[in-house]
Amino acid sequence: MALAVFPSGDNSPMTDTPGASASPSPGAPSAPPAVTPAQALGWMHTARFLTTAPTLEFLPPHDYPEIAFVGRSNAGKSTCINTLTQQKRLAFASKTPGRTQSINLFSLGKQGITDAVLADLPGYGYAAVPKADKFRWQQVMANYLVTRENLRGIVLLCDPRHGLTELDEVLLEVIRPRVEEGLKFLVLLTKSDKLNKQEQAKALQIARLNAGGGTVKLFSSLKKQGVEDVAHLLWQWTHDAPAGGE
Ligand code: GDP
Repeated sequence: MALAVFPSGDNSPMTDTPGASASPSPGAPSAPPAVTPAQALGWMHTARFLTTAPTLEFLPPHDYPEIAFVGRSNAGKSTCINTLTQQKRLAFASKTPGRTQSINLFSLGKQGITDAVLADLPGYGYAAVPKADKFRWQQVMANYLVTRENLRGIVLLCDPRHGLTELDEVLLEVIRPRVEEGLKFLVLLTKSDKLNKQEQAKALQIARLNAGGGTVKLFSSLKKQGVEDVAHLLWQWTHDAPAGGE
């Protein structure tokens, strides 16, 4: 299966939350102070809704590092974002067939000063969505992943009981050139509370083989497994701090 990729259209400058103009310019010379995983979690909690866009053309550019959350419908993406940000309804799944799917942006940063942006891309592969809608969405997503400036990293959510599906594999192919150029990439094996220790180890092993060099971690919103760890990694990605690795 191939995804068509189209160039992005004109973008208008983004208006940000008050105080954004006071944020440090990207590429500021001094290295950011290190934070603990708990502090990184506090940083994630600052997430606030920024904007929503039906396609890339409507998505405003900005100067902050952006992290995209992608995954098959029902993989646990909305729950993961809400758990990481410790907010009940920041992200919510739109599973109604035919309902407009959008890219939602959330800004992050203490004292209302944005220093990073999260992008929540709608889940793919939901069976009840008409073919034309599925295709349209795949194009939007491929466009975003290939051309979005300031995209610093991608978090791919995967339910390890199903493993990486055909659509996940297509996505991996789409992002491969950017990952080879340095784009950060994390596969999160969600709902890990549903697996025993042995199954978790096996799921990690298989996903690492398939993840093409990306980091793989277990995650459970229910048991809060991996939450601080992921928050810390995302902070490192967006603050040019040395990566913590797996
Ligand atoms: P999305 O479509 O990827 O946004 O998936 P959702 O976040 O809506 O989650 C899909 C289903 O998985 C829901 O019924 C969630 O309650 C469930 N779920 C999500 N995360 C977890 C988890 O960590 N553990 C368990 N046991 N269930 C989860």
